[in-house]
Amino acid sequence: MPLSHGRPYLAIPGPSVIPDRVLQAMHRPAPEIHGGAMVDLLAGLLPDLRAVARTRHKVAMYISNGHGAWEAAIANTLSRGDKVLALATGRFGHGWAETAQAMGVEVEVIDFGKRAPVDPNRVADRLAEDRAHEIRAVTLVHVDTATSVKNDVAAVRAALDASGHPALLLVDCIASLACDRFEMDAWGADVMISACQKGLMVPPGLGFVFFNDRAEAARARADLATAYWDWRMRADPEEFYQYFWGTAPTHHLYGLRAALDMLVHEEGIEAAWARHERLARAVWAAFDAWGQGGSLELNVAEAAHRSHAVTSVRIDAPHGTALREWLAETAGVTLGIGLGMAPPGDPAWHGYFRIAHMGHVNAHMVLGALGAIEAGLAALDLPHGKGALEAAAAVIAGR
Ligand SMILES: *Cc1c(COP(=O)(O)O)cnc(C)c1O
Repeated sequence: MPLSHGRPYLAIPGPSVIPDRVLQAMHRPAPEIHGGAMVDLLAGLLPDLRAVARTRHKVAMYISNGHGAWEAAIANTLSRGDKVLALATGRFGHGWAETAQAMGVEVEVIDFGKRAPVDPNRVADRLAEDRAHEIRAVTLVHVDTATSVKNDVAAVRAALDASGHPALLLVDCIASLACDRFEMDAWGADVMISACQKGLMVPPGLGFVFFNDRAEAARARADLATAYWDWRMRADPEEFYQYFWGTAPTHHLYGLRAALDMLVHEEGIEAAWARHERLARAVWAAFDAWGQGGSLELNVAEAAHRSHAVTSVRIDAPHGTALREWLAETAGVTLGIGLGMAPPGDPAWHGYFRIAHMGHVNAHMVLGALGAIEAGLAALDLPHGKGALEAAAAVIAGR
């Protein structure tokens, strides 16, 4: 019997749940774009974006999704034929590497598999071998949204420093920004990219590239950026239209203003990180209990290596797909598909799913999703351990 009529919960890792306040802020006539309120609005957004990224450096904005931000970071720091060391802990690490390759960059991938974080020692060893300093940049995904592996950005920075290697550290925080703690300046990321539709709670359409002085210096020799992707004007515009190299994404900026009010000025970024951690721990507690009596298993064994924004789960195929379908049809909860865990078309593909707990999500939403999963496991007669909801509730209660 369908019990899905009511407010749906899209628990996929992007686009995330959009707050009503963000939607309402966007619901208005278009403003004049060559002066007045838009100019003031934009000037107010920049310090708040820096506060979320924990940086005092520059930011360039694009009307793009995360793939656009991937390209922008590569285009502004590298030249055709340059070498990049790409660190992969899931589909997104490979995706960024493939993007760089398609742009004419020579890419070497170190693949750490689908269940473990980057090993900084392996990175240090590889960089130490590169005595001629041919590697110009290292790409790292903070949270790989496919596997839910979280990487230690500061440790990778330390590996670069220990080997005395000048390569830039480019970090993808598209899934993690405003969910998992991230400190751009303190952790030594030279470039950090993100997008607005995950932890920032705005509909897809804005890409961000933060860059420090070292990255800015690399821009001088990088030859991949065309006029549209060049970050120089966007970060230091002489006229308003140069922020976006054309018409500004007016309504997204209103939405972003509302989202940053909530995140930076009301909740506070530290509190948002703490909320995501607590909610993530509740999810893990439930899956640990279910796993005691069946095939459900968290993809990442060690809590320290798990994202606070999304959790990837394994279950005997084809139960992952069956459970997702039951939840969407019967309970109004949409879980994420497994991404890059098995090839599409392979029966094993149906043995993975993801639950997002990123952005505008609170305790009752997470407990509701977990309760719906419990019901789905029962309805489909899938073996599972007992006590999952009690375990999750205990985490929420702070026990
Ligand atoms: C979502 C995501 C991307 C891609 O973003 P799109 O907006 O889908 O282009 C890249 N990297 C990570 C880590 C992501 O979570």
